[in-house]
Amino acid sequence: MTSTLMQNVLVRAQGLQKSFGPVEVLRGVSFEIQAGEKVGVVGPSGAGKSTLLHLLGLLTPPSRGRLELAGREVGSLNDKEATRLRSSTIGFLFQSHHLLPDLSLLENVMIPLFLRRLPTEEAHVRARGLLTRLGLGHRLHHRPGETSGGEQQRTALARAMVAEPALLLADEPTGNLDRGIGREVESTIREITEAHGTTLVLVTHDEHLASHMDRRLLIVDGRLEKIDCRPAARGRPPPRGEPAALGVTGWGPLAAR
Ligand code: ADP
Ligand code: MG
Repeated sequence: MTSTLMQNVLVRAQGLQKSFGPVEVLRGVSFEIQAGEKVGVVGPSGAGKSTLLHLLGLLTPPSRGRLELAGREVGSLNDKEATRLRSSTIGFLFQSHHLLPDLSLLENVMIPLFLRRLPTEEAHVRARGLLTRLGLGHRLHHRPGETSGGEQQRTALARAMVAEPALLLADEPTGNLDRGIGREVESTIREITEAHGTTLVLVTHDEHLASHMDRRLLIVDGRLEKIDCRPAARGRPPPRGEPAALGVTGWGPLAAR
């Protein structure tokens, strides 16, 4: 456990399997994710990407194998401990925003802070600050239904990030948006996770989005087929801003462990 923390490994999966009845969806997947890394999870529909994300998010237990999150072996946790670890460590962003329709954007973003028992005034200040930073300062008191798809998804991002989780799990977060709006939301996700040093695991069909990650895990038929690594990410952090300088076309295979 100590060595995990010393290496700064946030997620360690060893031989993760998940079955639903007789159907084996994940067939023994192993990898590590360092704190602060941005990892894209790619692969065909039905390959098991969302199932893997659910396991990482402690939404469902593995059928077999070992999963460590922030130095804790997940299999050893009872329900209460798993819930506590999830709410203290993980933010979720899905394809649908899942905002509560009768609350304002501001109130929606305050919810995770209430769950952490932050005083109302502090929760208000933090939620307002983050929404304003995400360009939604003029929409604070609107309900989700009165805002655009991009604004709704940016609000969901604010709700996922407001408690500053160590890990953001995103499952096709731009899948419901027009391409242009999707790109805006996607760069917002990158900016905000970079600014907070948040580890990002993002499932996507979008090559453009995947190419901006430090690494991508290719899942095919429940197996980890390949771990691709952007060359710049192996040494120092890549320069910001210029796609050409990021080496986004220069994927090099890295042995899957
Ligand atoms: P992906 O996200 O890569 O498209 P999923 O992880 O959603 O794939 O699903 C992988 C396979 O697991 C699919 O065949 C799906 O039908 C099956 N599956 C996912 N969740 C369940 C479940 N709760 N019960 C039964 N089968 C499931
Ligand atoms: Mg999926």
